[in-house]
Amino acid sequence: MRLTFHGAAQEVTGSMHLLEVNGQRILLDCGLYQGRRGDTYARNLNFPWEAESIDCVVLSHAHIDHTGKLPNLVKQGFSGNVWCTAATRNLSAYMLLDSGYIQEKDVEYLNRRRSRKGEPPVEPIYTQADARETLPLFVSVGEGRPVPIANGVKLTFHNAGHILGSAVVELDIEEFASGKRWRVVFSGDLGRDEIALLRSPTIVSQADLLIMESTYGGRLHGHYEAAQRRLRDVVCRTARRRGKVIIPSFAVGRTQEIVYALNQLDAQGDIPEIPVYVDSPLAVNATDVFRMHPESWDTNVRAFLEDGRRRSPFDYPRIEYVREVRRSKQLNHMTEPAIIISASGMAESGRVLHHLKNNIGQAENTVLFVSFQAQHTLGRRILEGNGTVRIFGEAYDVRAEVARINGYSAHADHAELLAWASQFDRGRLQQVFLVHGEAEGTSALAKELREQGHGNVVAPTLHGSFEL
Ligand SMILES: [Zn+2]
Ligand SMILES: [Zn+2]
Repeated sequence: MRLTFHGAAQEVTGSMHLLEVNGQRILLDCGLYQGRRGDTYARNLNFPWEAESIDCVVLSHAHIDHTGKLPNLVKQGFSGNVWCTAATRNLSAYMLLDSGYIQEKDVEYLNRRRSRKGEPPVEPIYTQADARETLPLFVSVGEGRPVPIANGVKLTFHNAGHILGSAVVELDIEEFASGKRWRVVFSGDLGRDEIALLRSPTIVSQADLLIMESTYGGRLHGHYEAAQRRLRDVVCRTARRRGKVIIPSFAVGRTQEIVYALNQLDAQGDIPEIPVYVDSPLAVNATDVFRMHPESWDTNVRAFLEDGRRRSPFDYPRIEYVREVRRSKQLNHMTEPAIIISASGMAESGRVLHHLKNNIGQAENTVLFVSFQAQHTLGRRILEGNGTVRIFGEAYDVRAEVARINGYSAHADHAELLAWASQFDRGRLQQVFLVHGEAEGTSALAKELREQGHGNVVAPTLHGSFEL
């Protein structure tokens, strides 16, 4: 058996690992590499092997850095099964199409730059039509339902508690030539008990080989209750100033989490009765998928609904879901206090840019960040206290309050990653591969895992390959 790490190796994006056994090739995740526009094109265009040589794909969850290269794999000739949970399939239907649209738009930008340099135009990596062709290949499998996916390979999904449908991938493998048997566990992205909407990650205790994410190695998040108190305070303070709260938010996962958080505060009478607008077509679609999968909701959601004041974690009289551009533009002219949740999460693109442009210059408003802001993004520049920022090429003074809440993170932090790893039977676990993390976080986690007695911990480099 051979394992090769073709992405999310000493970085957090482009998750893609190849497992070869019994003459078959199984791809764990097929994620898009997301970085600066110039570098990403070449990296996402090509695979290090023929697409047709892949027998099947297993997806841990629907985030684009785990699925977004799939339409390109299909475009290049892959026709095997794509194994995932039902919720991952349903979210992917919206997210891959959205990604196809972004690819079409990004290539327009790239081609403008190329034409200035006298270079010929390039094609999009894939289009919305290519993304649609991918969906018939999906085969959804329920959690805890073992299924054979290749000769000598059985797959079982366990709940990862990270976003809706996210799974820990368990593979029971028999190599025919040597008679050896392995259980390989791939964590995907791990969630946390603190996520109010979703059930906590399942405890998995038996593995010979573990491939584990390390995004937040060396860092700790706050608790949910503290996050709720901060959210309440930000909303109350801004409403007293008769201002608006603008929340840049990822469309899938974080938006639904914040809507539920506001719903709870509103039901308890902890915040004033002001309107909430979810202004992102992808977020609106994703919320529909969340409604379709009550099996994934945490028990506290059931308790909240049984209380009788609310019929849904995502709906109450003051929430409006905005799809139409015309309605989105009307929000610009409203003068009363309101909360606007809009994508993208790092304020790099999407409708949130219009809301920031219209509201960042007034001291009564608040820009509230509820997720990680990467370097070189507009979100990061605002958060770092730059007095002036550029939006759509124009300079705007930042006079609005800028606030941040860490407690809504969907990723396990350092302590939570260690706690999850410590549940494995150390007598059986031979090797831990740390992926999906930057050098600093990964080495902090590796160090502590070794101190806890996990002997063989490695962080593979890009295209690093291991014969097992
Ligand atoms: Zn993820
Ligand atoms: Zn990820």
